Amino acid sequence: MQCEICGIEIRGRSQRITLEGTTLEVCNKCAQLGRPIKIWTPTPQKASPAGKAVYNKRTRRDVFDTLEEELVTGYDSIIREARERQGLTIEELAAKINEKASLVRKIERGNIHPEDSVRKKLEHTLQIKLTEEVAKEEYTERTAGKTTTLGDIAIIKRR
Ligand SMILES: [Zn+2]
Repeated sequence: MQCEICGIEIRGRSQRITLEGTTLEVCNKCAQLGRPIKIWTPTPQKASPAGKAVYNKRTRRDVFDTLEEELVTGYDSIIREARERQGLTIEELAAKINEKASLVRKIERGNIHPEDSVRKKLEHTLQIKLTEEVAKEEYTERTAGKTTTLGDIAIIKRR
């Protein structure tokens, strides 16, 4: 193999360069006269995946699990049974928690959900638990216009 510029016999590896639009196989010395042809290597380009990473991050923030305390179903009978177990009338229980008997009666009938302060007093007085932790997935930032991503599908299937 001879250098296409100076004509010497190339020992070892020849260099491939472009010089004025032509590709030449040359010796190491002559390689400096032209531009080396870059050999393609599968190194990942840093520019393009950046946008994708940002998008993934945002998707994760859109959908996340939170634990919420929720009033248990059947809280009304739990209260009534606990009250009866302690031998209290509605009036006596109401007096203990410093609330109106009519309110306690409505709660025991399931007509109204006790507000947090009342619920805590009932739980404390009757030694009961009226809430359970419920895992909720929030979709607050997702709007109808957004396209569904694979991540979204995975989450929907998991439910
Ligand atoms: Zn040469």
